Amino acid sequence: MRQKINIPHQEIIPAILQELPGWYRQQAGDRELPWRTSPTPYHTWLSEIMLQQTRATAVIPYYERFLEALPTIEALAHADDERLMKLWQGLGYYSRARNLKKAAIIITEDYDGKLPDDFNTLLKLPGIGRYTASAIGSIAFGQPWPAVDGNVLRVLSRTLASSADIAIPAVKTAMEQALAPHYPEGQTAGDLNQAFMDLGATICLPNSAPHCVRCPLEKICLAHAEGLEQELPHKNSAKTRRLEKRTVLLLIQGNTIALHKRPDRGLLAGLWEFPNCTGKLSKNDVQEWLASHGLSASRLRTLPAAKHIFSHIEWQLSGWRVELEPTTGLSAAETNLPFTWVTPEEMTETFSLPSAFQYYFPYIS
Ligand code: SF4
Repeated sequence: MRQKINIPHQEIIPAILQELPGWYRQQAGDRELPWRTSPTPYHTWLSEIMLQQTRATAVIPYYERFLEALPTIEALAHADDERLMKLWQGLGYYSRARNLKKAAIIITEDYDGKLPDDFNTLLKLPGIGRYTASAIGSIAFGQPWPAVDGNVLRVLSRTLASSADIAIPAVKTAMEQALAPHYPEGQTAGDLNQAFMDLGATICLPNSAPHCVRCPLEKICLAHAEGLEQELPHKNSAKTRRLEKRTVLLLIQGNTIALHKRPDRGLLAGLWEFPNCTGKLSKNDVQEWLASHGLSASRLRTLPAAKHIFSHIEWQLSGWRVELEPTTGLSAAETNLPFTWVTPEEMTETFSLPSAFQYYFPYIS
C-alpha cells in the first residue's frame, strides 16, 4: 500500500525560495569552487558525481587533476581504466568513475560528445539519478528541477517543521513535488540548488548545532521558531552497518610487495588490494595461511588496527607485515600465486589502492 506523506507548512516554500538566491550570490565568493567559475555541462556533471560522497573542499584537488588529465567528455570516453582509477584514488566509491566513463562513451557515440539537456535522457545514462540530473539540468541548462538530497531534506524538514521520516524514499519524492511548482527557469534554478547545497554544508549542519544566527532563513524557519532545530529531521529507518573483521597482509619479498586484483563485481570491484582474509588472524593463523600458499615468513610483525566504513559495511581491520623467505629458488613474480608483485614506486605511480587499504601503505618500508 502506498504511504500518504504529508509535508506540512508548504505555504512558506515561496518565501524560502525567495531568500536563497540572493544569499547564495552574496556568499558564493567566499566559497570559491572551480566548477562554479566555468559551469559547462561536463564540469557540472563531473563535480556533482565527485561531490556525492565527499566534501567540496576535499573534492577540489581531485577535480582539477581529473580535468587536467581528461579535459573533455571524449577524452574521458577514451581514458585507460587504470589511469581513471588512479585519478579517482582517494575519492572512494569507484563505481562512480566507471559509470562516468560508460556514460562518456554513450555521449560520444550517440550525442556527438555533448551532454544531453533532456532530463529523462540524462536519467538513462549510467550513474545519473534524479538528483544529479536535476543538478545538471538546473546549473548547466537553467531548467527548473529541484535537486533534493540529504542536505535539502534536512533544511526543508527544519524550515517546514516536518517530522516526516527522511529515510523513506516517498518523503524525498513528496519534498521534490512540494518544491517543483515554485522553481523558476534560468540561472536562478541552479542558484537555488547550489544555495541549498551550501546552506546544508556550512550552516544548517547535520551532526552539530546549526548556525541559525547566520542563516538567511532564520526569520522563516519554523524549527528555529519552535526550538526544534536539533530534533529535526527525523530519520528512523536508517540501516545499520554489518561489521566485518578482516586481516590485511603486507607480503614483502625483496623490494616488492604483493597486490591482488579484486573480482570484477561487488565491493571495490576490479580494484587492487593488499592480500587479506576474513577474521582476525593470530600469528599462528598467518603462518598457516602462508604455508597453504607455499610461503613462509622470515619475519612477522603485527600492525595497528584500523577501521574503514562503507555505506553498508564496516571493516574492522588488523594487519601483519610479512617478510617472506625467498621461495624455493623462484622469485615472487615467478610463482603461481594470484598476486602481482610491485615496487612501492610502481604502486604510487600506477596502481590505485582504495582508501580501505591506504592505511597500511606506510608500513611497507
Ligand atoms: Fe537550519 Fe537554523 Fe536555518 Fe532553520 S534557521 S534552516 S535550523 S540553520
